[in-house]
Amino acid sequence: MPGRRRVRDPIDRRCAIRILIVGGGCAGMSTALHLQRGLRERLRRGEAQLTLVEPQAYLTYHPLLAEVAAGSIDPRHVVVPLRRELTECRVLTARITRIEHASRRAWADAAGQGEPPAPVELDYDVLVLAPGSVSRTSAVPGLAEHGRGFSTVGEAVGLRNHVLEQLDLASATRDPALRQAALTFVFVGAGYAGVGALAELEDMARYAVRGHHNVSPDDLRWVLVEATDRILAEESPDLAAHTLTQLRERNVDVRLRTTLESAAGGVMALSDGSRFAARTLVWTAGIRPNPLLRDTDLPLDTTGRIRCLPTLQVLAPDGRALPGAWAAGDCAAVPDPHADGAPCAPNAQHAFAQAEVLAANLLVALDGGPHAPGIVAYRPEVPTCSTSLGLGRAVAHTRSGGRLTGRRAWWLHRARHLRRLPSGERRVRVLMDWALAGLFSREVVSLGRPEQPEPADDRPT
Ligand SMILES: Cc1cc2nc3c(=O)[nH]c(=O)nc-3n(C[C@H](O)[C@H](O)[C@H](O)COP(=O)(O)OP(=O)(O)OC[C@H]3O[C@@H](n4cnc5c(N)ncnc54)[C@H](O)[C@@H]3O)c2cc1C
Repeated sequence: MPGRRRVRDPIDRRCAIRILIVGGGCAGMSTALHLQRGLRERLRRGEAQLTLVEPQAYLTYHPLLAEVAAGSIDPRHVVVPLRRELTECRVLTARITRIEHASRRAWADAAGQGEPPAPVELDYDVLVLAPGSVSRTSAVPGLAEHGRGFSTVGEAVGLRNHVLEQLDLASATRDPALRQAALTFVFVGAGYAGVGALAELEDMARYAVRGHHNVSPDDLRWVLVEATDRILAEESPDLAAHTLTQLRERNVDVRLRTTLESAAGGVMALSDGSRFAARTLVWTAGIRPNPLLRDTDLPLDTTGRIRCLPTLQVLAPDGRALPGAWAAGDCAAVPDPHADGAPCAPNAQHAFAQAEVLAANLLVALDGGPHAPGIVAYRPEVPTCSTSLGLGRAVAHTRSGGRLTGRRAWWLHRARHLRRLPSGERRVRVLMDWALAGLFSREVVSLGRPEQPEPADDRPT
């Protein structure tokens, strides 16, 4: 990295096996937890070293973000502090910028906000890649000014406050055009993020307008725009079709095979020719592999994911396992036997399950080498998909292949995610949030933008 002062990590060269995990999300943190357990004695004796590099000090559990936006869960409870759970692991709050696996080196920039990056060079023996994916962006006119994302806790809280503010605005204004724009909510992209956020917020807004004397649920307009011919591409076609029916029954205007052409001036222009004003535009139009993967010397498939064997080892050009390189989660193209060997869908279920197999295989490989007989292929269970669509509403597949809707599906959905949350303490907190939400009426007050308080009124009294 020319022109910048490099700092070599001083502890790196002291121990026998140095494992570097890139990314502290579902796959990365979960792998670290399994390895921490499996290597506990070696870690304590200094014979092994586990380093996890992640720009945030916490894991964000994305599947529950929509419930944060709806106010059913406290925002702090869907994040898991890495240092609290990974007590035997060195957690580096930084972003990996480049990896040269041939020389077993990676470069990281410490994540100080507003400060110049502090580069660190890390040597390793074994690499576990799990930096996930990033949102797909687009050069749609007006999107940068009017669009908002939905993949972080901050964005979920911000969107909640914004939607509630629009209800207040619509109730207070005497301008019919402004009122209509305030009550029109557009979501572009019908994957997990778009469908989950829209369904939960629609449900919340329907409840919140009860407190407004002049706004009724029928005044709210929810539009879901999707470029392909189906929603929830990450889920089974059957569950996706059923979710679509449920949304349409709730008067959500779902437009398939449609794209957003422009949002200039807050006017939504869709490819089907319709144009309307909306003050809420949420961009959840898909994901793409993390761009970091292009700054490595590891093999990528045509979509930009790391090519992997079913054992979660990175695939070498000779068709065998590349020594010392592993990957899991959204970034990894791992063959899915349930999909005729096509790569596993990018979802949390695969990320957690792959992490468990990866860690077990890595422990075998540490002693027996990359082709040791104990290394097994990742064989995912039959997918058990579910999507929450608001309080008491969901659609879910059972393990036996049956389909549930309504309250039973909702309980199943909650139980599954509670089980997957990688922290016992967080599970209890989320359970308490749900219990409290069941005891009292819903919290539907907008806090505005707490990080940007209103300027003080300094007029003389
Ligand atoms: C809003 C939303 C809702 C979702 N809902 C569902 C759902 O209901 N069910 C479901 O199964 N899936 C859902 N998903 C998808 C699911 O969250 C992902 O598939 C899963 O998180 C993938 O795990 P991962 O570990 O690969 O990536 P992530 O969990 O995203 O973790 C990747 C981590 O890598 C870090 N990172 C990125 N770049 C770098 C770098 N250069 N250096 C170091 N670290 C880096 C990131 O900060 C992040 O913490 C949802 C996703 C979103 C955004």
